[in-house]
Amino acid sequence: MRKVYLLALGCPKNLVDSEILSSLLSQNGLELVDRPEQADVFIVTTCAFIRPAVEESIEAILELAQLKKRHNRLIVAGCLVERYKNELPSLMPEVDSWIGFKALSQLPQWIKNDTFPTLVLTGSEWEQRDYLSRVPSHPFSAYLKIAEGCSNHCSFCTIPFIRGKLRSRPLEEILEEAQRLVQMGVKELILVAQETTAYGIDLYGRPLLNELLFELDKIGAQWVRVLYAHPKRILSLIDAYSKCKSLVPYLDVPIQHVDDEVLKAMNRGMGGQELKDNLLTFRRELPHVKLRSTVMVGFPCETKMAFQRLTSFLEQIRFDHLGVFKYYAEEGTKAYEWGDPISDEEKEERYRAVMDLQYQIVKEKYQTLINTRHEVFIDRFEEGYKGVGRTSWQAPEIDGEVFIVEGEANLGEIVPVKIVDAYDYDLMGACDRKLK
Ligand code: SF4
Repeated sequence: MRKVYLLALGCPKNLVDSEILSSLLSQNGLELVDRPEQADVFIVTTCAFIRPAVEESIEAILELAQLKKRHNRLIVAGCLVERYKNELPSLMPEVDSWIGFKALSQLPQWIKNDTFPTLVLTGSEWEQRDYLSRVPSHPFSAYLKIAEGCSNHCSFCTIPFIRGKLRSRPLEEILEEAQRLVQMGVKELILVAQETTAYGIDLYGRPLLNELLFELDKIGAQWVRVLYAHPKRILSLIDAYSKCKSLVPYLDVPIQHVDDEVLKAMNRGMGGQELKDNLLTFRRELPHVKLRSTVMVGFPCETKMAFQRLTSFLEQIRFDHLGVFKYYAEEGTKAYEWGDPISDEEKEERYRAVMDLQYQIVKEKYQTLINTRHEVFIDRFEEGYKGVGRTSWQAPEIDGEVFIVEGEANLGEIVPVKIVDAYDYDLMGACDRKLK
């Protein structure tokens, strides 16, 4: 039996692809192994969204190439292939096959038949039966991909030409998959797409995330979480956030910026006032919902004034969680044509300023949480702790964790926890079932 080592890089959308691929590999009689040294075939599913992701992908490929012996085959799949299909095959001859995401479903068959095509970009995307065969990497928490691609064309973003235009999955297929995951024991479903709030526009002629959330509320998942909402469409979710019991009080809504000129140049589809109004309205209507956002600093037309407008809004809105990115000029995007006029030092300074500001905000917010009680989903175990988990307003990987210092908890359990301390972006808690 051929042994396969699969390394999944990149975002949760890529993770879903890798989980489906793993299941298909097993179904085709191939054995998945934990270490490349045990494998005949290495597969890397790559990311290529921005420069650091490209660099990480290339580093991973080169590391595996070094381990390659005569009988090994190295396959690179995913976003890097789509983005650099014309350049990479000749630059990296140590790679046997370059496989675009549309050809992923054929890959297990090729490995089984010992066929390694140099470059394949065409094929059919995942079908419903592929989604239904997926075994999530975490037994109790799973990403649910509701759409692929994006039609927004933000001027800095490579996604529309890597992943193509928006393609929503039919609502009933998403529900069928969600139901199956819940039956398998999954308690938390995390909705992902390039932009979740655009869900349905291509298929049903209007955004349908609100309706989807109501349908998901009936299937018995304990937590349903929404990532990657667009600020121009968040008000349509107020209804679902007010009524759906399974919907966690958390929304990830990347804003990128608030300055009119910057937003216009970014092609974000809305001005600063509308963006601020939407967020403030959402918060006023649903004060219990914690907001996560992402901003970008150093965009070509971000003047000092524009940056100041950004930081003063961040001080006003006080996001509960915030990610900050420095702008990278990415070839092929509209913004690439405007060069990269803001120096690395200036970008670093702006990045630090936002990080410091957010650190203070989180510190103050976390102090008010001490001695309060929260339900915590136990994700994993770590030496020195009784368990490590997340409250309903912390998403995996991005928002910090709760380290259980007292009491007992089991993997996948949602347990009552009293917060006893805060440390940077993490919390310490005591699990006490009597708190329930
Ligand atoms: S919404 Fe904009 S930033 Fe997000 S994936 Fe689409 S084009 Fe890229």
